[in-house]
Amino acid sequence: MHTAPNPIVNLVESPFVTGLRCLRCGAEYAPGAVEYVCDCRPNRGSDLGTLDVQYDYATIAHTVTPATLHADPERSIGRFWPLLPIPGRASLPPLPVGGTPLLAAPRLRAQTGLPNLWIKDDGRNPSASFKDRASAIAVARAQAAGRDIVATASTGNAAAALAGQAAAAGQATVIFVPKSAPPAKIAQLLVYGSRVLAVDGSYDDAFDLCTDACLEFGWYNRSTGYNPYMTEGKKTVAFEIALQLAEQHDAAPAQLVAPDAVFVSVGDGCIIGGVYKGFKDLLTLGWIDRMPRIYGVQSALSPALYNAWRIDAELPAPVHATTRADSISVDAPRDAVKALTAVRATGGAYVLVEDTAIVQAILPLARLGGVFAEPAGATAYAGLLHAQQTGLIAAHETVVVINTGSGLKDVRAAMEVTGEVRVIAPTLAAVRSTLAG
Ligand SMILES: *Cc1c(COP(=O)(O)O)cnc(C)c1O
Ligand SMILES: [Zn+2]
Repeated sequence: MHTAPNPIVNLVESPFVTGLRCLRCGAEYAPGAVEYVCDCRPNRGSDLGTLDVQYDYATIAHTVTPATLHADPERSIGRFWPLLPIPGRASLPPLPVGGTPLLAAPRLRAQTGLPNLWIKDDGRNPSASFKDRASAIAVARAQAAGRDIVATASTGNAAAALAGQAAAAGQATVIFVPKSAPPAKIAQLLVYGSRVLAVDGSYDDAFDLCTDACLEFGWYNRSTGYNPYMTEGKKTVAFEIALQLAEQHDAAPAQLVAPDAVFVSVGDGCIIGGVYKGFKDLLTLGWIDRMPRIYGVQSALSPALYNAWRIDAELPAPVHATTRADSISVDAPRDAVKALTAVRATGGAYVLVEDTAIVQAILPLARLGGVFAEPAGATAYAGLLHAQQTGLIAAHETVVVINTGSGLKDVRAAMEVTGEVRVIAPTLAAVRSTLAG
């Protein structure tokens, strides 16, 4: 491992990226002039200094249109490459990400009384979570810049996604996870061949350690909220939703369609920031005519962003997060600026749900929708039910709930609500008495 405290950014940049803008002080940077956060960031652990990637939308609009996107045989996020911070679609790792189904789920529609409800099932990504969308960009950029090692801190899914994308591309990785991460996620890291460091501490401890190690050893840092390009991968879910909704009505859409509302679970706030950025890109291009209302759902045991939203604070105060939904268990959200803007600028809301409601929501998603979600994925559905009860959603509205991760990531959580399986003797008599009982 080479040591380069201030690695030189020398990658071939996307022809459509015009620079980066600080969301705190407004400073503008040329492409490649800064790697992670703005100089105005006062100290580590603070969310301030988050950068937003800027594009030349006029040129993009001459390169892709809704019609060409629809006609593109590519189903992965590669089809959106002019809107991504990569030099071309060929630079993405050879393990396709995205192109996940938007499910009509008729039985869930009947149960909720929402005839225009959709489930975007991102558990169907290669490493079984939404995080593949961002990790593909991290590996593409690291490889384009010739970086030896990509590192990340993660509650589990971001790391598993990075490990899978890196394995396919032949990129070495070092992963920092809290030692409490579910075994399935740690197994993914080991299977994909990452160097795994299970930190005796929280996700936030792992995050700070990863930041320090990357600076010390010159590794490329994928960590959420710190690496500004992760939002750009995550925004592809908005492109897919708008395209998939348009394709419902029109075999060759000239315009895309925004839903009325999107529900997404929130930990650090990078996914919700990506959802916002994606729809914003489409609005800027004139491909949709309005933004959806974006609803961020948090556990009552990890409510930092909800708290900040409720009191109209600029930034969240840290909490002591203890939720069962490990993927959204975050003390100090790292992407808070983008996460709060997503809700405030679209007239959405933050919604708080109890952990009991989160694990209970796994059942209707599976039994009525056929979608097996991990707790953090089911959180979005629990949030929709809560929002419906409090009158935030009207019955006719087009509502998209994003399932961010597969239930196979954490089977123990699911079995808390299903109960254990019954063992019987291998006889018909035992079958009869069990079915009767
Ligand atoms: C990471 C993750 C989230 C939350 O995303 P943030 O960007 O941290 O807000 C939600 N669900 C799952 C399954 C995740 O892995
Ligand atoms: Zn700044």
